[in-house]
Amino acid sequence: MSSSIDSVTPLVSDLWKSLIKEEGQIFDGIVNVRDVLHKFALANRFMFNYKKAWRGKEKAKEAVDGGPFHGYMLKATALDANNGIYPVAFKIVKSESLENWLWFLENLKAALNEDREIIIISDRSQSIISAVRQVYSDEMHAHCFRHLKENFLKFLEKYHLSKATKGTLEDHLDIIAYTFQVKACDRALDRMKRLCAEAYDWVIESEPKHWAKCQFPKKRYGKLYSNVAESFNGWVLKERELPIMGIIEKTREKLTKYIYKRKNKAILWKLLVGKRIDEILALNVKLGEKMQIMSCSTHIFEVREIHGNFGVDIERKSCGCGKWEATGLPCENGCATTMKANLNVYDFVEECYHKETQCQIYSETMRPVPTHDMPSLDFFEDETDDDGYINELSEPDKLLPPRCKKPPGRPRRK
Ligand SMILES: [Zn+2]
Repeated sequence: MSSSIDSVTPLVSDLWKSLIKEEGQIFDGIVNVRDVLHKFALANRFMFNYKKAWRGKEKAKEAVDGGPFHGYMLKATALDANNGIYPVAFKIVKSESLENWLWFLENLKAALNEDREIIIISDRSQSIISAVRQVYSDEMHAHCFRHLKENFLKFLEKYHLSKATKGTLEDHLDIIAYTFQVKACDRALDRMKRLCAEAYDWVIESEPKHWAKCQFPKKRYGKLYSNVAESFNGWVLKERELPIMGIIEKTREKLTKYIYKRKNKAILWKLLVGKRIDEILALNVKLGEKMQIMSCSTHIFEVREIHGNFGVDIERKSCGCGKWEATGLPCENGCATTMKANLNVYDFVEECYHKETQCQIYSETMRPVPTHDMPSLDFFEDETDDDGYINELSEPDKLLPPRCKKPPGRPRRK
């Protein structure tokens, strides 16, 4: 919004900052803030829009406590034995560049067990794709289906398709992503091609081998999304408002408590598996209850259900539907056959879901990090210029956050 003094210094947001950072000042609710803002604008003869008010508040916060760090947090988050979040590593950077991702992944690789195969699910940004290709391999990289679907729907907006056609294309995309059956995937691709060639071309160019369950060459335990990373983002949302050392300290503190709590919980598991896994198994047992089963041998069975017949080999822990091998958990057909053979379903659950694994995952604890002799962060007040860059420090022993540019706009906050 234009203003009479906007074109001359000081900036509107600086004036507002100077007003709201006065010591001991208390705003009694949003109405009071609006009132003060209005009077202040009248006195200074200009109009005040929301963006400027927000910028002024941010500047005031920076002046008081060093300000939030305007960089990025790179994270690696895994799943534990109960499909819970297990934060592995994080790094504070000035940008999500290829260089930073390379450094992060190289160090992650060095820290993790060499002989263990891992699958990386990411939001498929270009820098992550290149970094995973260089540090790990392309075939270990799964692309998050939620992000992919968002891009697909955005792409469809370019074409004047009816709502029904868009809905059908979306259904085909879901089948391509979710089915464990190669034939069902091919059928959906074929139907999509006949309905909208552009949509089909987009899907092929997006390389389904990175996101379609049946085309992914490695075992990914049926996981399609990078939502654990997003959950971690939400978990440290408040901490990310802090200056850089605050982010690190508070996140570390949170992780220490989290890991300790999970460790104590795992010890108390009464079953072989955790609650979430047990719920999946219970559902599969229920679905398998009414299936007709024919024994072919002591370990091979034919299961008859509404979608057709499936061959199940309980010795090999495999089922024709593809789910058992892909997830490491007996599918509904698998549950039906193990029960038919008078065997315990739990005995067919992969070790990665066992209580013992969960206890191992949380056996390591975070070590205390002494901070009593760390340099102070007082320099923040005078060492940042108007663009948020950190100026040269006079004392060489002070810890510097990386230089970075503030991202545009208002940060996402819940
Ligand atoms: Zn099955």
